[in-house]
Amino acid sequence: MAPRGASRFAIPGSNTTSKQLDCWNHSRRNFLTALVGLGVSTVMPCGSLLAVENAKPKGESPMRFRVWVFSDAHVGRDKKYGPRDSLAEAISQSESVSGFDWDIALDLGDMSGDVGLPKDPEGEEIVRQFGALKRHRREQIYDLSGNHDRSGLDDSQAWWWRKWIDPTGEHTEFSRVDAAKRPFPIDGTWERYSFRVGNVLFLMMCDINEPTQKVGRGTLGGNPSGVLSGETFRWWKRMVEENPSSIIISAHHYMLKNTTTASGEWEGMRRDEKGGWKDGYHGYYEGKGTPQGASYLYWVDSKRDSGAFENFLESSPGRVALWLGAHTHTAPDDTYGGKSHIERRWGTSFINVAGLTKYMGAAENCIPRSWLLTFTDGSDEVTAQCYLHTSDYARQGWYSKFDRVVKLSKQFKMRSVKTGIAGESGTSRYFLALRDSILGNRQTGRNRITSRWPTNRPELSRATGLVLTDIAGSD
Ligand SMILES: [Zn+2]
Repeated sequence: MAPRGASRFAIPGSNTTSKQLDCWNHSRRNFLTALVGLGVSTVMPCGSLLAVENAKPKGESPMRFRVWVFSDAHVGRDKKYGPRDSLAEAISQSESVSGFDWDIALDLGDMSGDVGLPKDPEGEEIVRQFGALKRHRREQIYDLSGNHDRSGLDDSQAWWWRKWIDPTGEHTEFSRVDAAKRPFPIDGTWERYSFRVGNVLFLMMCDINEPTQKVGRGTLGGNPSGVLSGETFRWWKRMVEENPSSIIISAHHYMLKNTTTASGEWEGMRRDEKGGWKDGYHGYYEGKGTPQGASYLYWVDSKRDSGAFENFLESSPGRVALWLGAHTHTAPDDTYGGKSHIERRWGTSFINVAGLTKYMGAAENCIPRSWLLTFTDGSDEVTAQCYLHTSDYARQGWYSKFDRVVKLSKQFKMRSVKTGIAGESGTSRYFLALRDSILGNRQTGRNRITSRWPTNRPELSRATGLVLTDIAGSD
């Protein structure tokens, strides 16, 4: 397990030749070499983490921003078949002495574990499990919805998820999410929203029911393909185009086509002995839905297999730093379709972070895990580390075989954001327990803002009282 504090970049036990060899398996090296040949910067295996550590000036601890990324908790399912608190256990582990610090978390959907429609008791249970948070606020977790979180085709779109998970804090009495307590305020709606941390722009997008389809959530466990509205796609495209100086991180419950493990056409299914299709990573329903796209974002703007995101990224290489998704649960070392869980295409790094569940799917596919991304002020590299929440596959804790350094097209600058949070009393309400992270330092160091903010400043109309100044490139 990684120690807390300034030595975060050191990969435990990683300064050995064998560890580096682990990372450099033959096929991957060929793939990476090919990318380099094309002039595309690559996701670097873990050996280079040490180089990053060594490059830092001695005696200085640069500010870091840590993003914990988890998904597919399928809370009701694990509660029923464990019983196991898939969400609370992960939270408690992260906050334990042997865990890790994080500044914000991204929840990439499928909180529900119902194979039918999600219902209120499961929502209550999810809120109860969020109560495991001891060192963080609920509002430090930014959520988006997955296929299991959808409501019925004839219901109000995503009513259950909006009621209990509620990223915009519209139903605080149920979700206990208070928009005024977001450390980085959300701009948008439950279906699509953005927020900024320094020069990083997060674009969060929800999976929805496809309006042209007559089957879906409740009948097919989704469609089961990923679905995104035309409005959301146009919003995403505009945000990317209008923010050229930002480091852009896109998140959706599904991966894009042909990026990570089993994300190709039909790769979510398996052949049966007669040459037909049967259940694979996802359920197969004869003649219904769009099983060929079960493991990727298949529908965009009601177009099948639209390629909308893929085409955009191909024509704008490197514009999006990261695509974070989940949905396909499988073993850490699965490379079905010739792809692993962390890959790079079109200058974008893709990570399938699924998932926290141990019981939604075949046992060999459900290895509870999550990811920690660490940004360092002034650095154009992000470390990505995988954390195992059980000892079913390997020892519980960091799974260093996955350690990667993701190269960004520009340096992360958190100085472009001036953080300070004024509560009702004008005093800080956040992150007092954290030390060397972006919010921890700012709150406890000389930039701590404790005075009452004037109320006539427009930037303070954002309910958090978080003051954003000098955004790089004013995008
Ligand atoms: Zn899913």
